[in-house]
Amino acid sequence: MKTLLPTSTAGSLPKPSWLAQPETLWSPWKLNGEALTEGKQDALRLALLEQQRAGIDIVSDGEQTRQHFVTTFIEHLDGVDFEKRETVRIRDRYEANVPTVVGAVARRTSVFVEDAAFLRRHTDQPIKWALPGPMTMIDTLYDSHYKSREQLAWEFAAILNQEARELQAAGVDIIQFDEPAFNVFFDEVNDWGVAALERAVEGLTCETAVHICYGYGIQANTDWKKTLGHEWRQYEDVFPRLQASSLDIISLECHNSHVPLELLELIRGKKVMVGAIDVANPAIETPEAVADTLRKALQFVDAEHLYPCTNCGMAPLPRSVAQGKLRALSAGADIVRRELSAR
Ligand code: ZN
Repeated sequence: MKTLLPTSTAGSLPKPSWLAQPETLWSPWKLNGEALTEGKQDALRLALLEQQRAGIDIVSDGEQTRQHFVTTFIEHLDGVDFEKRETVRIRDRYEANVPTVVGAVARRTSVFVEDAAFLRRHTDQPIKWALPGPMTMIDTLYDSHYKSREQLAWEFAAILNQEARELQAAGVDIIQFDEPAFNVFFDEVNDWGVAALERAVEGLTCETAVHICYGYGIQANTDWKKTLGHEWRQYEDVFPRLQASSLDIISLECHNSHVPLELLELIRGKKVMVGAIDVANPAIETPEAVADTLRKALQFVDAEHLYPCTNCGMAPLPRSVAQGKLRALSAGADIVRRELSAR
């Protein structure tokens, strides 16, 4: 990446109200058949345009073609019955009615490759594509087949690797795996979670990232955060293993958060997508507030490794708020870029 402090988002952006109900997770589509396919592509084009107008350097699809960052991928796999549902606790935090793994999981066909190729055709900028991570996938399902979280994670890692290789061939520059579950199941992360992720990126020559956050600004997450105490040191448990991993980039929540930024020292040498936009608060950051978070992170991340980003996805936010936050991210990064080049 030639640009200093290249900006990007963690992934999702709000969808237009003609495509899906705004400010809602798992929002049902408002279109069907051909019209839905066309509507998703139009929304993807708009999401790209909004990022470009805001000056975002590494662009994405804003996850406009998927209903949910985990479920949509799983819907395309064999072995999971979406009619047979069980209630589980997601990330040990909130209950949800989820599909059941009833047989061997397998990927029949590519899931996002056509969408990624569509995005590639519409921009020459670097593009990033998000996939769910293996641990977060198993945590969003009830498993009545393997009956082993680890075994199912390895199966998903192999499937994700097939998808990732095709995304890379379609011209994706950075493939990101979303692993919010890494902030909860520390023993499993160190036992097999990071290893499964390394399996998912095996053989890739494009850049790879893992996104670990404290979640969307939904009530269950806000309530959970209240129980975490004054300092959020969750990253401390997984950073040493991630530092030693084959992943290139680590995407983190750093703004308005109780994460002590000195923890970033533990992943020194990795590229870091520093969350400098709070997605749990509709107030739009000032460019100066963004710059302030980036300056703090620069104490622990070398400038050429720092990628300003959002804390998490912005799907549940009003569109105008998300647009304002994109512009603030860009303007804040610009302030720090000018400071660095004046040195
Ligand atoms: Zn996130």
